[in-house]
Amino acid sequence: MKLTNRRVYAILFMILFTSVSLLQSNDAIDPKLWEKALKIHDEAIVVDTHTDTPMIMYHRNIDIGKRNEKTNVDLVRMKEGGLDAVFFAVFVSNRQDKDQPSKLALEVIDRIYRQVDQYPGLAEMAISAADIERIHGSGKRAILIGMENGSPVEGSLALLRDFYRLGVRYITLTHGSNNDICDSSTDEKPQWNGLSPFGKEAVQEMNRLGMMVDVSHISDQAFWDVMKLSSAPVMASHSCVRAICDSPRNLTDDMIRALAKNGGVIQINFFSAFLDQEYGKKAEETEKMLKPVREKLREQYKNDRSGFWAAYMEEFQKNGPQSPSIDVLINHIDHVVKLVGIDYVGLGSDFDGASDYPVGLKDVTGFPLITYKLLERGYSPENIKKILGGNFLRVFKAVEAARQN
Ligand SMILES: [Zn+2]
Repeated sequence: MKLTNRRVYAILFMILFTSVSLLQSNDAIDPKLWEKALKIHDEAIVVDTHTDTPMIMYHRNIDIGKRNEKTNVDLVRMKEGGLDAVFFAVFVSNRQDKDQPSKLALEVIDRIYRQVDQYPGLAEMAISAADIERIHGSGKRAILIGMENGSPVEGSLALLRDFYRLGVRYITLTHGSNNDICDSSTDEKPQWNGLSPFGKEAVQEMNRLGMMVDVSHISDQAFWDVMKLSSAPVMASHSCVRAICDSPRNLTDDMIRALAKNGGVIQINFFSAFLDQEYGKKAEETEKMLKPVREKLREQYKNDRSGFWAAYMEEFQKNGPQSPSIDVLINHIDHVVKLVGIDYVGLGSDFDGASDYPVGLKDVTGFPLITYKLLERGYSPENIKKILGGNFLRVFKAVEAARQN
């Protein structure tokens, strides 16, 4: 983030300062500490390794060059929140696995390029760690592509290489269900007991290409298979700590230790239900209660998945539990730091892909509050910069360096 944006921060500060209720805690913002936080945030390269914004761009025709209320992320608010680089997820649901998933993935990739090309003054596509640093230096946003669910590869290493050529720099091996690469952490029962035979080939090919392997969403056994096989550091692009919030989507302490040992990184997800167990339980009850409403909306939005999702979210927010405080997110970061040290944790918001986020972090403009909270907990500026993006950049560079031609 460049210093030219300090004025934007000052405005943001005023908003935060005058609506302390945003923080939903008894601690008001300390203006001196806030000023210091903004300076650190300004200097840092702030990276978010996972947002689902492209699906909204694609299905609802949202223009991310303009501020809008339908997404958590757009290029205007990215600048306000001092977010310098973001991985846009090309998401294909497991339900679409059998239906030529590569077509949807390719169309979404095209949409990302077309949107970013439309706003050369605001953002630029990036395919390397060096690109992120260069674009940050120019004061623009760096946009990168990750693929969430590897099914668009369609079991073909040739397609895997093609997606790399198009700029895909990580693949989340699967999503909510098992696919032809590996088992999911949230499917009913395993199909492969970890990685499939093709999954093993895919991980090795990703290593060879210099493409990051993302272990978020995959089953515990698949995680251990990846750790055994991968010759490069591995990333969890949007996962939290299971010791704090017991969800199969989160990583156990043993997994976090293994990630650190391999030089990888866990990028903490902002989704309230992965951060706060109590919230998650209540949210599940709300989901159950809203089942009839959901069915009705599904019928009403038969051919508009994203319209259905938006309408359902509105209902959920009216009836769901209160969002947790941003302190719970900091607790997850703290846990990783105490467990394995400062070098293995970062941020992967899951913006535009989850139903609720902590208070003060409802969209991308909330990022400076994380810096403030870390400062409040006694983190040094140098260590805060590692969490905001430095750790991730180290992993990205190590994966690039491990590339073999
Ligand atoms: Zn996800």
